[in-house]
Amino acid sequence: MKQIVLATKNPGKLREFKKAFERLPFEILSLENFGELPDAVENGSTFIENARIKARFFSEILKLPCLADDSGLEVDALNGNPGINSARFAGFHADDGTNNRFLLSELDRVGVSESKADYRCAIVFVDLKGTELIAEGKLDGVIKKIPRGSNGFGYDPYFYIGEKTVAEISIEEKEKISHRGQAIHKIVALLEDYAK
Ligand code: IMP
Repeated sequence: MKQIVLATKNPGKLREFKKAFERLPFEILSLENFGELPDAVENGSTFIENARIKARFFSEILKLPCLADDSGLEVDALNGNPGINSARFAGFHADDGTNNRFLLSELDRVGVSESKADYRCAIVFVDLKGTELIAEGKLDGVIKKIPRGSNGFGYDPYFYIGEKTVAEISIEEKEKISHRGQAIHKIVALLEDYAK
């Protein structure tokens, strides 16, 4: 069976990808299968560029088809920031807590208590012949300064979809509606065609 490497070590993402890829005729590996590897330099200016950089980087090193994703939060009142810098909004070693505190201080700085926002995800698959498949997903919501819920990660306690935050819905519900869930659904369809 042909192999595909998922270029991530994030256990949550791996679980979601592996579950969605079960019906595909590929053996799914991840970076965990290969021990110590260098990091890709994500210096693109869009989610797609950064996903492509990661997919190509690991495909070239491992000599296998690779799939990578990139995602983040875009806040209207902050001109779309943090965008591709979502993981390091408050600095290079920032964690979710410091990023969220920085997000709230940025809303204060521009003088709003809430703002329309979206989560975006791009997934890029590349093989050794130069084939490239791209899928994207987007979840619209509103960032508010009152945190709610403890599920999820990152900006989820502040990201409202209707009355609830993403941190208040179940993991299964999130996978159905989320930016990543949508992009995964699309890439699975593209990979089904690719496998024919
Ligand atoms: P990456 O795609 O792993 O590089 O993640 C980028 C960053 O975007 C994460 O560290 C989070 O800060 C943010 N992010 C992406 N997806 C989500 C999500 O589903 N919930 C909350 N934050 C997210």
